[in-house]
Amino acid sequence: MTQDPTIPLRAALAQAPAQQFIDGDFRTPCGDGLIDILDPATGALLSQASAGEAADIDAAVKAARQAFDDGRWSGLPPARRQDMLLKLADLVAADADALALTESLDNGMPLMMAKMGGVMGAVGMLRYFAGWATKLGGETITPSWPGEWLGYTRREAVGVVGAITPWNFPLVMAVGKLAAALAAGCTVVLKPAEQAPLSAMRLARLVAEAGFPAGVVNIVTGYGHQAGAALVAHPGVDKISFTGSTLVGQQILRESAATMKRVTLELGGKSPTFIFGDADLERAIPAAAMGIFGNAGQVCAAGSRLFVHTSVFDRVAEGLTARAQSLRVGPGTDPATEMGPLISARQRDRVASYIEAGREAGVSLLAGGNTKGDAGYFIEPTILLEPGADLSVSREEIFGPVLCLMRFGDDDLDTIAARGNDSQYGLSSAIWTQDITRAHKLANRLRAGTVRINGSGPPDPALPLGGFKASGFGRENGRAGLEIYTELKTVTVALT
Ligand code: ADP
Repeated sequence: MTQDPTIPLRAALAQAPAQQFIDGDFRTPCGDGLIDILDPATGALLSQASAGEAADIDAAVKAARQAFDDGRWSGLPPARRQDMLLKLADLVAADADALALTESLDNGMPLMMAKMGGVMGAVGMLRYFAGWATKLGGETITPSWPGEWLGYTRREAVGVVGAITPWNFPLVMAVGKLAAALAAGCTVVLKPAEQAPLSAMRLARLVAEAGFPAGVVNIVTGYGHQAGAALVAHPGVDKISFTGSTLVGQQILRESAATMKRVTLELGGKSPTFIFGDADLERAIPAAAMGIFGNAGQVCAAGSRLFVHTSVFDRVAEGLTARAQSLRVGPGTDPATEMGPLISARQRDRVASYIEAGREAGVSLLAGGNTKGDAGYFIEPTILLEPGADLSVSREEIFGPVLCLMRFGDDDLDTIAARGNDSQYGLSSAIWTQDITRAHKLANRLRAGTVRINGSGPPDPALPLGGFKASGFGRENGRAGLEIYTELKTVTVALT
């Protein structure tokens, strides 16, 4: 009989020293504060991470500053930076099984999601942005001044980047920011989420093995209000790249003003999906279910508001209810699991309190609505039937497996779009219809950073990602996602 692969990993994690990765070395933290890292499927202690303090952040920022200022990274030939990123990609790919298991244990997500979306997603990010290292460039522009002139622009690395990442897809979020910043020539201090930092610390070992110059990548674990806040306040940091809640994003934006940091924010969402009467329901129903129950709804672009044309409403409602009731909910490391636990007791209770508020307002449920099991932080896949548009369940980001299901009639596209746009958020959206004109007209009317028509794949590093309105500031991925790590410099030369 083969041994349960989580047993040796759990043993290693239980014994792993709580260290910080600073200036190319694993260091003993400045303070002795520790964060308990819990297994969300059981609530049991998995490991302990250092509760990094301002002094740890200061050491990391100084190392990153030195590494940026002396040009040991930004001054390398671009092809050399590309090679280093490709090497890290190979090391991450070679460590895929252990990294995915670490992620699944720590975050609770199904192992297959940790492997494909997480680890292989991270490898894709590294390979994609590696290619940009050699392609980053400016333009030649002729000024309309008397005489003969040469004008051109340069894209220069913005400097030291503070990357602050959430717990919902810990590895790929961290690697996405690292890959783009490093390709642009920046140096980085990464502060992973306190709830799930284990894959980032494993990544630190691979960064060390890849042979990046000391100080180019630093990883400091800690709480948001301590290590995270210290990073945002530090004058040695030029840019903050943050993914997380809108509330913290707003706080970071305010705090960054004092030192005039550049800021990119990927924040919350309450993304609408529209299923029209002519949609291919065989595909639309499972996609809508995956869109809200995937990763237990802990996805910033989760399709949490579903609008269905009245002619197919009953079929869609039945299909979704059947899916919600049959979804196998369990520990992420069980290969049969389709939906894992939520990240923490706090998050489970938060989600449960939204459902409760809906119930109290008289909303009926088509499926779920309860916590599940005695141990761990499970919530049943839940569908709320036509909650009022002004209720908290309809307006706020729940970040759990809770779908608001609404119907629409033969309204015009402006009216339909207005219902979708009736939100402080504008991250993502989805449209299901065979009518291509309708699809594109609605796409134009939606105030969202992404519109998916008749399906979509996993996040692609080439596709810009980000939000309108309270969903964010700036874009990650694609060329836009590289340029956020640069300053644009204009150079003019008198040729007369
Ligand atoms: P979530 O609601 O998903 O936990 P948060 O926005 O609270 O999202 O956290 C996302 C990341 O931001 C985490 O790494 C967290 O530690 C960090 N963070 C939280 N508060 C602050 C803060 N005041 N300053 C900087 N980072 C913070």
